[in-house]
Amino acid sequence: PVRVRFAPSPTGMFHVGGARSALYNWATARQQGGVFVLRIEDTDAARNKPEWTDGIISALAAIGIHEGDPGFEGPYFQSANADSHRAAAEKLYAAGRAYYCDCTREQAAERSGSAQTGYDGFCRDRGLEYAEGRALRFRTPDEGTTVVVDLIRGEPAFPNSAIEDFVIARGDGSPVFLLANVVDDLEQGVTEVIRGEEHLSNTPKQQLLWEALGATPPVWAHLPVIVNEKRQKLSKRRDKVALEDYLAEGYLPEAMVNYLMLLGWGPKDDVEIRPYAELEQLFRISEVNAASAFFDVQKLRSFNGEYIRALSVDEFIAATAPYLAADRAPWPAEAFDAAAYAQLAPLAQSRIAVLGEIVEQVDFLFLAEPVQDEQSWAKAMKNADVALALLRTAREKLAALEAFEADALKAELEAVAAEHGLKLGKAQAPIRVAVTGRTVGLPLFESLEVLGRERTLARLDAAAE
Ligand code: GLU
Repeated sequence: PVRVRFAPSPTGMFHVGGARSALYNWATARQQGGVFVLRIEDTDAARNKPEWTDGIISALAAIGIHEGDPGFEGPYFQSANADSHRAAAEKLYAAGRAYYCDCTREQAAERSGSAQTGYDGFCRDRGLEYAEGRALRFRTPDEGTTVVVDLIRGEPAFPNSAIEDFVIARGDGSPVFLLANVVDDLEQGVTEVIRGEEHLSNTPKQQLLWEALGATPPVWAHLPVIVNEKRQKLSKRRDKVALEDYLAEGYLPEAMVNYLMLLGWGPKDDVEIRPYAELEQLFRISEVNAASAFFDVQKLRSFNGEYIRALSVDEFIAATAPYLAADRAPWPAEAFDAAAYAQLAPLAQSRIAVLGEIVEQVDFLFLAEPVQDEQSWAKAMKNADVALALLRTAREKLAALEAFEADALKAELEAVAAEHGLKLGKAQAPIRVAVTGRTVGLPLFESLEVLGRERTLARLDAAAE
């Protein structure tokens, strides 16, 4: 059965591109009853931090990839396999497939001139032994072609003459990433390497290492790069890329998984929004598109909105609770009123696309005073005389209204609007701003009902001053 692996380096927040690679590996393993190996490539001691490793493991768990599942193996740590990496380097040296080299970078560059790139093989036949400072280089074939079987890109061919004698162990004897990565894959029985396109240029070198170590190379699949709306490669300096950040803002894990599965692939029937279990069965690594994949935040938002609307009201209330809790919300803890929230929650559920947006929908209920969104106030009060007069009439009528309920409020405010020669739609703006601080929000009459007469009147007074 197929054995795939996901091999992140714990050098930062967990990137959405990493999440997609993980999911494509996961789906490939599970649909065939195979195994997904998680290997943490933690050999770059200067850049690794244990908290990044924890972050990767918990982010993977959030998207459904976790220990305890029969298809999951690991996590392995690359650093724990250092002896094997050294043994492989020694084996290649002993077999004459690698040689020591004492050229400095400057010497090598000087000799190769500008036209040629890469190392010229100067030390190939000098028979140097290991000494501190001497790098171990792999002797690449001079002739022939290395053809890699890539399930997405066909069979890219690399002329061996263009593959330099690359370093496999540094001057201090430590094996480099390229070799460690191959040795781990080999020992972990990996049959398919599914990873980002940025590794494609390493692949012919790695395939030569597999062969030199006496093993049959895996098949490869290099996933397309992910780009932003300007067609630039998604980068952590420019774009929001951390899966954790999306989850923290209130993208539902199920929506993220659904969206990420479609970053470079789509089901044949074009039904895009569907549970992971279905996508897992339909997904084929060979159907992944080689062209770059656009990370469309608007599309992700709309997916997320659909997933939010598919929740039951109780689920929605539970899912939004963390955003309304004292440690995050802009109002004091005691101001939160669960019953009032429950009344408006269904209205909010149909309007927000990201859970974190719940706060601005309902903050008028829990803040002592509504926010002062300047643009909203300027817009609603543009015709100040009319707006203020309207607010005063509204205040008067609502004070006298018998039942402070949505239907009655609507009828009354319709009358108020007519009195001022306005359509209800137009008349709502100043009232809405007076009461909620913003020109857009939940349906007004329901909002007023839940806010209650006393606070509504106080806010109309304050705005009309
Ligand atoms: N550790 C490498 C990375 O995070 C992955 C290499 C691979 O998948 O082969 O980019």
